[in-house]
Amino acid sequence: MSNIRVRYPPSPTGEPHLGNIRTALFNWLFAKNNKGKFILRVEDTDRNRLVEGAMESQLEALKWLGIDWDEGPDIGGAYKPYTQSERLDIYKKISDRLIQDGFAYKCYCSQERLAQMREGYKKTQSIVGYDRKCRNINSLELGEINNEKSYVVRFKTPLEGKIIFNDLVRGQVEFENIRLDDFVILKSDGFPTYHLANVIDDYYMKITHVMRAEEWLSSTPKHIHIYNSMNWEIPEFAHLPIILAPDKSKLSKRHGATSILEYRRLGYLPNAMVNFLAKLGWSLDGETEKIETSELISNFSLKKVSKSGAIFDIDKLNWLNGVYIRGLTADELTFELLDYWKIFPSLELPVNIDYDLLKRIVPLISERIKTLNDAGPLISYFFSDTVKYKKEQILQKGLNFSDVNIILEKLYSEVIAIDDFESNVIETNLRNFVSESNYKTGQVLGILRVIYTGLDVAPPLFESMEILGKKHCVSVISRAIDNMKSS
Ligand code: GLU
Repeated sequence: MSNIRVRYPPSPTGEPHLGNIRTALFNWLFAKNNKGKFILRVEDTDRNRLVEGAMESQLEALKWLGIDWDEGPDIGGAYKPYTQSERLDIYKKISDRLIQDGFAYKCYCSQERLAQMREGYKKTQSIVGYDRKCRNINSLELGEINNEKSYVVRFKTPLEGKIIFNDLVRGQVEFENIRLDDFVILKSDGFPTYHLANVIDDYYMKITHVMRAEEWLSSTPKHIHIYNSMNWEIPEFAHLPIILAPDKSKLSKRHGATSILEYRRLGYLPNAMVNFLAKLGWSLDGETEKIETSELISNFSLKKVSKSGAIFDIDKLNWLNGVYIRGLTADELTFELLDYWKIFPSLELPVNIDYDLLKRIVPLISERIKTLNDAGPLISYFFSDTVKYKKEQILQKGLNFSDVNIILEKLYSEVIAIDDFESNVIETNLRNFVSESNYKTGQVLGILRVIYTGLDVAPPLFESMEILGKKHCVSVISRAIDNMKSS
């Protein structure tokens, strides 16, 4: 067991995003690859943005994808609690200490004053940030300030020099201190800001590698300042590339779902999703697309994480999911589908589906579906005695209704005469029938396809007929004949 410890600390502010879970996955793969620990933490200090049920969604998404954690809010661990709102004492203690040691100060500026200040910046178009009024308040003035008055605690960022650090993905990164602002570390409600809580927790939870999305890069110098002022060892940092749409714009709903749970609802397989997410910014060799989770674990390395934005390509995900579906045995796909419909019932199918029947059906569709959700409409005819179709559908190219009548009558006697109702026998008989008739294969089989399935493009006909059974097949033809007559 190595000492490597990484963390995934979501803020429960909504459904887990593709980008969030990609970050979780990279951390998890890194931990597994290094035989380290993966820690889950709840960063719920921004009380205004909390969304009820958001953390449950995070856990659900991780569990669905098989991303497990060694320590976390639900299972505890040596450094509990793992929920920031339960750690307020620690943050207050460190904030006090930073004030005492001269690294931070109380700021009493009112919201109105700060708003005025920002307005002024707008006019002069100068750098937006706190003007440091309270930083230089002398002790005499401090005494005058009513202790009851609300305040925030700000970090006293050095006014010169710079922070230089080595990012494991981006190499050497530099930030000028003068550009950093005296950022708030403790808010007036007594809650820490992200910066303070994040650093304190990473330190106390003995995190060795901080791997997070690129958008947090500009926070890192602030964090390093806090580490330095506390004399704490600084962890390694790795900022993961942003995820972009194919046109390199910001990924949004119009490029496909952004919530990971939406992909579950849409019928993607968890291992296909893991494979797809792993390739958003990481690659094995620049070409291999299908990489099973075990291979991802054994090959994952930060050296192969790219600096440039990762392109989210829904077509690739659909293709990859199809590859994973085709890689399943009939038993596995049957299980997957039944599990899926248990959570997301299909409108086209009955509630209880017989396992053995479904297992006979799945080989007919595994080549034809890209997601589990595609299966319902494609196989509903196996579960319905009266498939609906329009009369025009039955009218195959080059035929008129009287042709269709004739064909149906003949098919009735053909099908009823087949004793051994197996797909290959059915096929031989029907093909012989076609070749001896004046009609084309497509016309005759097209009629059967429509009356049995109601679909214009359907799973293989003869295999379907075998599964539907002779009795059903005969009665459907006879009903079709009646329908033709009745109109
Ligand atoms: N709570 C932050 C988020 O929601 C965590 C950022 C970090 O990993 O430091 O993304």
